[in-house]
Amino acid sequence: MSHGICFLVGAGPGDPLLLTLKGRACIERADVLVYDYLCNPQLLRHARSGVEKIYVGKKAGAHTLRQEEINALIVAKTLEGKTVTRLKGGDPFLFGRGGEEAEMLQEAGCRFEIVPGVTSAISGPAYAGIPVTHRAHNTMLTIFTGHEDPTKAESSIDYQALASTPGTKVMLMGIDRLATITAGLHEAGMKAETPVALVRWATTARQETLIGTLADIAEKAAAASFKAPAVAVFGDVVSLRGKLNWFETLPLFGKRIAVTRTRQQAGELVSCLRELGADAFEMPTIRIEPAPNKREFYESVAYAHGYDWLIFTSPNGVDAFFNAFFEIYRDARDLGGVRIAAIGPATAARVSAFHLQVDVQPEKYVAEEIITALQKETSLDNVKILLARAEGARDVLPKELNRLGAIIDEAIAYRTVPETSDESGGIERYKALGADMVTFTSSSTAENFHALQLPPCDGVKFASIGPVTSKTMRELKMPVDVEAKVHDIPGLVAGILEFYSKK
Ligand code: SAH
Repeated sequence: MSHGICFLVGAGPGDPLLLTLKGRACIERADVLVYDYLCNPQLLRHARSGVEKIYVGKKAGAHTLRQEEINALIVAKTLEGKTVTRLKGGDPFLFGRGGEEAEMLQEAGCRFEIVPGVTSAISGPAYAGIPVTHRAHNTMLTIFTGHEDPTKAESSIDYQALASTPGTKVMLMGIDRLATITAGLHEAGMKAETPVALVRWATTARQETLIGTLADIAEKAAAASFKAPAVAVFGDVVSLRGKLNWFETLPLFGKRIAVTRTRQQAGELVSCLRELGADAFEMPTIRIEPAPNKREFYESVAYAHGYDWLIFTSPNGVDAFFNAFFEIYRDARDLGGVRIAAIGPATAARVSAFHLQVDVQPEKYVAEEIITALQKETSLDNVKILLARAEGARDVLPKELNRLGAIIDEAIAYRTVPETSDESGGIERYKALGADMVTFTSSSTAENFHALQLPPCDGVKFASIGPVTSKTMRELKMPVDVEAKVHDIPGLVAGILEFYSKK
């Protein structure tokens, strides 16, 4: 037996947070990731960088690899000794041919494990506000497929059995054959007025729900060009949606919003937007690199205790500074009596995270404001200041401080470079689906987004975290549709909410 192992992992229905912790661990440790059409590609961001990612398609009727080829592929990779994570939409053992893949692995002598997932059969209705069971309505749930095999045109649905079984029925696949299926169920005795819901792209911002009855749902679906992938729910529980439709009523539901910050920093904004129902995704346009001249930077850090003031202009500067500081020293007291100024709430929050008090916190990165704030605390004459910031930052602040008599040294803590790889697939996604809004949290995110020269996307709106970023956007001839009033992530989220609530 080889040392390889294959995990057949349920990737959940679409919402990237509906992945199990075990599923995520399998993605994190994979050497090879094999995924298909129904897996949200955003899950790939949990992978280590540089792992092999293989897309095997399987959109009904447009197969990239045939099932036999997929089986052969995962067996071969596992036999090579690799850790293979095969991601399958929903739950791997519910109409996903996961059983067949497991059999093949077993026959080939490969180690394998099954990681169940959140199935669209239950989560799809749930996100449409429909509990599949409810004490007042039913005690049974039947899940059936409208196609036994997505590659086969015909199916042998047992209409008699379905119509005579009480309780809720959920159908996966078969949306394209809805007219035949509803007619078959009616003929077998299911009541024409049975409530039916179709939920398409459930649990994602693209979710659409169509409500009807057994008699009219096929016609309604045809009129609305309602297409796969969708789940169909038959039964009285559909009526509970009137009260329980929680997801589609979230304030940012249906909005696809791109976050252009670095991969490390995108998370907070992405999760705030998702909580409000948006389909937020990472599309990093910049990356933070260490100080270009490490030795010089470390020397400034090592001598920080010799200054009267230490000024930080960004959270990245704070991180770079203290990472270096604690490589050099073991004790925070080695910072001495230097006082600390941090510009903006996010920068101040990073300083506090290192258990240090911020003495002055000017709100904006505007030279006069910083100087006025400092002058309230100290005379600037002959004061020694260390300014920790990014390469290429503007000169106004050091020049002004100098003019007022301060002795100022700069510590170039990091630099911002364009992100050249598309690890999270955000750029591909933007090209394929576009976005309703793109968010910018700094001038460099806007500059590098602009430099990507992505194809224009209809009706897209641009949101900025504050006036400095907005100015850059205007210089690049980008409209500023939203500008945050408070220049941090919660402020930006509030601005976006306000923008859409006015619509
Ligand atoms: N193993 C999967 C089902 C695979 S069969 C699971 O447990 O969910 C593929 C079918 O699943 C699709 O045709 C559709 O009926 C359903 N499906 C999967 N994801 C869906 C989604 N996000 N929204 C609606 N239906 C979905």
